Amino acid sequence: MTKILDFTKEINIEEMKEAADAIRNGELVIFPTETVYGIGADATNSKAVDEIFVQKGRANDNPLIVHISDFDNLDNIIEKPSLIEQRLMDAFMPGPFTLILKKKSIIPNNVSANLDTVGIRMPDNIIAHDLIKLSKCPIAAPSANLSGKPSGTRVCDIFNEFNNKVSYIIDGGETKVGVESTVVKVIDDIPTILRPGAITPEDIINVVGTCKISDNIFKKATGVVESPGMKYKHYAPNTECLLVYSNDINKLEDLVKENSNKDTIIIGCNELKNKFRDIEYLSYGNFNDYEEISHNIFRLLREVDKHNKKKVVIMGVKKEGLGIAIMNRLIRSASYNYIER
Ligand code: AMP
Ligand code: MG
Repeated sequence: MTKILDFTKEINIEEMKEAADAIRNGELVIFPTETVYGIGADATNSKAVDEIFVQKGRANDNPLIVHISDFDNLDNIIEKPSLIEQRLMDAFMPGPFTLILKKKSIIPNNVSANLDTVGIRMPDNIIAHDLIKLSKCPIAAPSANLSGKPSGTRVCDIFNEFNNKVSYIIDGGETKVGVESTVVKVIDDIPTILRPGAITPEDIINVVGTCKISDNIFKKATGVVESPGMKYKHYAPNTECLLVYSNDINKLEDLVKENSNKDTIIIGCNELKNKFRDIEYLSYGNFNDYEEISHNIFRLLREVDKHNKKKVVIMGVKKEGLGIAIMNRLIRSASYNYIER
């Protein structure tokens, strides 16, 4: 039986301790972070970690991120970071930022999918922080969604996927950021973004003066890639999906018109809603409000399937700042079915 802990108004510390004990006992707990919900297990317990892969249906060559509450004891799990890595950690932890570092053997190989590195993240969310702190172990946690589906940003969206498959689900309300953390690996002294997120290339340049973005951010990755997660189908509703984009909002409107009809549902900006009165339309926020769009996008991708339409047409955003992360997710949602004009 899954126990739901409702911490949307306040944290109940006794219940939090129960969930932390469950982690220490090798059980699974779903918990909120500032990005998306995670499905967590003791990162030093390979049997518990195996169970995450089973319950998510996740490919075992796709490594998990390890979550910490503070820098204490970090040197138990990773080799000493370089100066650049240290500066990135000081600047962006806690926050929506994951750094790939050399792991120590206490982190079992299923966490890292047999790589000698591990992704380390310190969530900026009090529930996540307290759970990790009280469990007294690092927590391996991928996003709480069945593999291939949009990540969960509210408990009601993922409850059916995990009810009776985990010991606890902690409800902390809607997550703030809405897309997963920026994943960075320092390669030849250059921070390289393997997955874009709310920590942008500009943020990283401001700290260490340089930043690269992996070639695979907007295209399909195959074979050996720096970040195995890039290879897989991701974030996809069951409804067929088309992503369209133009810098010019009038051209964007035309593109959507050309590709939609009564059997279509649209996910788009507030500004164009009135132009599609005869078609179901889910607004994700104002055209350039990337924070609002990233907050809403996974919830809307899940909502689409409830409307039983043949196709969803999604308006893309400019590939700048947090818009890079939004487009990285949407291109995958649409299985690379993308038109730009
Ligand atoms: P998720 O847990 O669903 O947020 O996905 C985690 C992402 O981080 C995936 O895209 C992984 O490929 C990536 N990742 C985790 N650990 C590593 C690692 N050691 N090296 C490279 N990428 C990693
Ligand atoms: Mg995921």
